[in-house]
Amino acid sequence: MSWPATVRYNKESAPAGLAFVQDLMNTIAARKPRTDDLLADLGDAQAWLDLALAEWSQITGTPVGGIELDEHDREELLGFRDDLRRAMRQASSDALPPLHTAAIALQLDGDGHVRPEPRGTGWRRVAALALIEIFQAQQTGIWPRLKMCRNDRCTAMFFDRSRNNSGVWHDVKVCGNAANLRAYRARQRAQSAT
Ligand SMILES: [Zn+2]
Repeated sequence: MSWPATVRYNKESAPAGLAFVQDLMNTIAARKPRTDDLLADLGDAQAWLDLALAEWSQITGTPVGGIELDEHDREELLGFRDDLRRAMRQASSDALPPLHTAAIALQLDGDGHVRPEPRGTGWRRVAALALIEIFQAQQTGIWPRLKMCRNDRCTAMFFDRSRNNSGVWHDVKVCGNAANLRAYRARQRAQSAT
């Protein structure tokens, strides 16, 4: 199995359940490599969600009931995804109002562990699951490694496994080399103009 949206860019998914958030953010239509928006139509959105939930369930070892989307859910989920991506881009600004609130229950298990449980139905349940994963990634410190590709025409989400967290391209060959070539040509043009 693989993450249905992220696999379109590469197989480097974020660890554990955070990959669900990455996959949701990767449902966008990118121009390079060209991909479709997986949330643009209800059938595609439901197919994406079913696959992504099954993957999440397998990776986290958590059973998950199906979540059914209707057209309203699809629109809201698309809006939630786009807000997530915007928040990611403006991560340095702290003057933004809160974007979304999700209902989450804390459950005490028999072994003494406390587990967050998403509540609600439809898109709200998907958003709750994503926000739980983001919260946990922020607590464990891996959140800053989930990044948006610096290529404006791509903006795929990738998980940076570099030692010093310095990666900026989802794939150096696809986006990094092209950008380096553009910079090189621009330098050459500047040189020949002088
Ligand atoms: Zn890229």
